[in-house]
Amino acid sequence: MARWVVSPAGTEGYAKAEVMRGGVDTRCLSSQTMEAKTVPGLYIVGEAVDMTGWLGGYNFQWAWASAVAAGKAVAERVKG
Ligand SMILES: Cc1cc2nc3c(=O)[nH]c(=O)nc-3n(C[C@H](O)[C@H](O)[C@H](O)COP(=O)(O)OP(=O)(O)OC[C@H]3O[C@@H](n4cnc5c(N)ncnc54)[C@H](O)[C@@H]3O)c2cc1C
Repeated sequence: MARWVVSPAGTEGYAKAEVMRGGVDTRCLSSQTMEAKTVPGLYIVGEAVDMTGWLGGYNFQWAWASAVAAGKAVAERVKG
């Protein structure tokens, strides 16, 4: 029989957390540049955004990809 149901009793909390929910709402940011829609010049990336993926690289990918998008936008901004 393969009907063994496992019910987690809880988590080990913040100290052991590998990724956290919460952060800046994606609707407040440009999906192209990660710039805050209401605060020009403010870019928010990675864990600070309300994006959470499964472990296995999705959070790294998000952190790196959003940072590259923001970095390119900042470079363009500085260049004028
Ligand atoms: C134990 C562990 C294992 C993980 N394993 C995986 C995994 O297998 N796969 C996966 O996809 N994700 C994993 N993650 C999640 C992943 O590491 C994060 O989602 C990702 O690193 C977030 O990148 P970030 O640059 O947004 O934030 P961070 O990597 O947290 O970088 C933030 C940086 O800002 C610095 N900082 C904070 N406050 C200040 C301040 N006031 N002034 C200056 N600097 C400051 C911090 O020191 C830190 O260097 C893991 C996380 C943990 C904790």
